[in-house]
Amino acid sequence: MASGGANYRNGTQRNSLKGTTTATDRQLSMNSNPSKAALKNKSLSSVGASSGLRKSSPGPLGGGTAKDDAGVPGRVRVAVRLRPRNAEESVADADFADCVELQPEFKRLKLRKNNWDTDTYEFDEVLTEFASQKRVYEVVAKPVVESVLDGYNGTVMAYGQTGTGKTYTLGRLGEEDTADRGIIVRAMEDILADVSLESDSVSVSYLQLYMESLQDLLDPTNDNISIVEDPKSGDVSLPGATLVEIRDQQSFLELLQLGEAHRYAANTRLNTESSRSHALLMVHVKRSVKGRELAHSSQNGNSTNMAKSLRPTLVRKGKLVVVDLAGSERIDKSGSEGHTLEEAKSINLSLSALGKCINALAENSAHVPVRDSKLTRLLRDSFGGTARTSLVITIGPSPRHRGETTSTIMFGQRAMKVENMLKLKEEFDYKSLARKLDIQLDKLIMEHERKQKAFEEEIERITTDTQNQISEAERNYADAMEERLKYQKDYMESIKKLEEKWMMNQHKLGERKDQMASTAEEVVELQKLLSKETSLRKAAEEEVNNLKSQLAQLKMSEASANSEILKLRKMLEDEAYRKEKLEGEISMLQTQLLQLSFEADETRRRLDRGGPGKVLGGLDSLISQVRPQVNDSVNEEKASIANLFEQVGLQKILSLLEAEDADVRIHAVKVVANLAAEESNQQKIVEAGGLTSLLLLLGSSEDEMIHRVAAGAIANLAMNETNQELILSEGGIRLLSITAANAEDPQTLRMVAGAIANLCGNDKLQNKLRDEGGIKALLGMVKCGHPDVLAQVARGIANFAKCESRASAQGSKTGRSLLIEDGALPWIVQNANNDASPIRRHIELAVCHLAQHEVNARDMITGGALWELVRISQDCSREDIRTLAHRTLTSSPTFLAELRRLRIDY
Ligand code: ADP
Ligand code: MG
Repeated sequence: MASGGANYRNGTQRNSLKGTTTATDRQLSMNSNPSKAALKNKSLSSVGASSGLRKSSPGPLGGGTAKDDAGVPGRVRVAVRLRPRNAEESVADADFADCVELQPEFKRLKLRKNNWDTDTYEFDEVLTEFASQKRVYEVVAKPVVESVLDGYNGTVMAYGQTGTGKTYTLGRLGEEDTADRGIIVRAMEDILADVSLESDSVSVSYLQLYMESLQDLLDPTNDNISIVEDPKSGDVSLPGATLVEIRDQQSFLELLQLGEAHRYAANTRLNTESSRSHALLMVHVKRSVKGRELAHSSQNGNSTNMAKSLRPTLVRKGKLVVVDLAGSERIDKSGSEGHTLEEAKSINLSLSALGKCINALAENSAHVPVRDSKLTRLLRDSFGGTARTSLVITIGPSPRHRGETTSTIMFGQRAMKVENMLKLKEEFDYKSLARKLDIQLDKLIMEHERKQKAFEEEIERITTDTQNQISEAERNYADAMEERLKYQKDYMESIKKLEEKWMMNQHKLGERKDQMASTAEEVVELQKLLSKETSLRKAAEEEVNNLKSQLAQLKMSEASANSEILKLRKMLEDEAYRKEKLEGEISMLQTQLLQLSFEADETRRRLDRGGPGKVLGGLDSLISQVRPQVNDSVNEEKASIANLFEQVGLQKILSLLEAEDADVRIHAVKVVANLAAEESNQQKIVEAGGLTSLLLLLGSSEDEMIHRVAAGAIANLAMNETNQELILSEGGIRLLSITAANAEDPQTLRMVAGAIANLCGNDKLQNKLRDEGGIKALLGMVKCGHPDVLAQVARGIANFAKCESRASAQGSKTGRSLLIEDGALPWIVQNANNDASPIRRHIELAVCHLAQHEVNARDMITGGALWELVRISQDCSREDIRTLAHRTLTSSPTFLAELRRLRIDY
């Protein structure tokens, strides 16, 4: 047979295996042309991943009655798949060519008969040894799966010699590599992706047919399942088979594995192997069709709801059957190679019966022997029935099996001639409609009974109401009659009484006329008296008014007198207070005078013993110091202080720091502060213990003014390196910190910050200063926000940073900056661009110093200081700082790497 091309009938009505269904079978409106290209087109062009799975729509639907029972022609599609050479074949057949040559572009297969002769066959699809599982699925199974989702039955079957890849094509789970997934797994993925789990259902059965006995692979105890055929519709069902509802892919995979395990166990028990049995997977897809009520009932307005509730839901029940047949070689070899007779017969039976049916169908013969085997009974809808059927025949390349390959190819060729009539498996769900109607009827009956009861109650109520009203009316009438009689009687009596009264009045009238004349005279008299009384009252009222205005005037003058008195009293109090104060001052001055004259005496005595001097003048000057109000000019004060220092002696002034009297102490500390401002005095003050006294004063005094002045003095003394060491060793940092913590006046903070800032500039004291809390104290003061204070803090930080960078350069410091350790970086970054130039300048310098040491670079980057450094190097108004920043930046590998990472050209 040369060129066994696809020769199929188009649209021929067939009767053989096709039955009629009670369902409302309807014609497909699309994809009904079973041309040769259809299989390919459908699978390759219209089933794009993005366009979704569905594309065919059902035919137009009328009132749910069958319009056309014929269905659409759909020829069995056949693809051939060649397995690659396996290891054994690669060796054994090394010198021989494959027995087939594929021409997939022409959908042709050439079968080598011998060295010089070949036969050519055409198939619907030719899949080479390189065809991927995905492509095989799309070409062979996907159109069938789509039909099943649309409500048709579908079959995918693999036929071929054992070892040619039937199970590989259908059943691979692809657990290791998803690219390996076979048709079954991919089909379920597509089905689950398309159905709605609320309204649709998917359930599967998994069976094995061995020696004409049908076993349930989902329940191994169930090993003789019977096949039931509906004589009317010809539909085949397996009521005994386990049906498992599938809701997700994972549970389906588990079910397949379970089935496989049972198959293995059954085959061991029966002493057989899977290549001798047929495996069948059945997937039932039941979907309810929505949205059709509207189209149908829109014409008859009011009856719409009724019509709706009376119409059953339309359901579509597609069934996908996947068949992994026993090896086709059994047909020829059975009976000859030691098979038992029974087994050989039954393998023979089912496969050869299938072959016979296909032949009969291909030849359009009048009798198709469907009933000869269980397999053909099970597949009656797949071949010559209403299902869309796709067959994949698998062949191997080895020339040694040319015979098997040829018979497989011929089977495929014949199957291509089998014509099915696809029918939509659509039916009304009368059962659920009946259930729905039952419920509705129950509801209506209940409602009716309820209304009936309510109606009867209402009637009863109205009757009682009416009777009550009638008896009430009767009562009212009787009452009214009685009342009327009573009124009539009263009326008569009143008339009688009035007549009597009239008679009496007539009699009295005569007597009254005489009395009237005397009464008129009395009235005139009374009128006179009244006018007199009136004029008297008027006069009295005038008098009262007069008195009232006088009283008001008096009140006014009293108020002004009162305020005058208050004012005077206040003045008096002020005077008294001033007097008291002056007296206090006088007594204080007297005390001081006493003290001074005592000291003057002492001095004089000493002088008497020693040389001459101007002690008296010095004393005057000292007195003038303790009375600051006398000296208003600063210069004058300074001059006198210098004088005082020379003349009275430092020791004396320092001793006044501890004076009992607060004022004396204040003045004394001012004197010392002024002296400390002169560099030439500083050493002397320290030698005389002045620094210690000042520090003590910070601790002992509670007066903020003393704190401020003392801190100022300490700040001045702290300019000298020796003094700095002394301050630190005497616990100065702690005292200054406490002073800062209690200070309310920013100027006090400025002094304290200034003192610490000076200490920060000492290379030797860095660690100690920090350990005592110097940096933390500085940072603690920034919250006051006063620019003077901030400037001192910034100066301290700059000093500290400078010393650190010097130490780092000399190698005496290795770790991270103590400023960073103590958390100064955020404040530095925040104020690096402060509006106040002194603050900004110091911080800019501090940033440059910190940046010079590579160990700080990471922290500076994360803290945002890198941006400040970049800004300083570009914008700083002072050229030297700008250059310093630039130099620092470009010599740090870390900074440069960060700028590169952020793709910033610097
Ligand atoms: P069958 O079910 O027809 O008896 P199998 O599917 O069990 O054959 O395949 C037999 C062997 O060949 C298996 O090892 C299988 O992995 C391998 N095989 C089959 N088809 C292919 C293919 N297309 N590509 C690679 N290996 C295959
Ligand atoms: Mg197999």
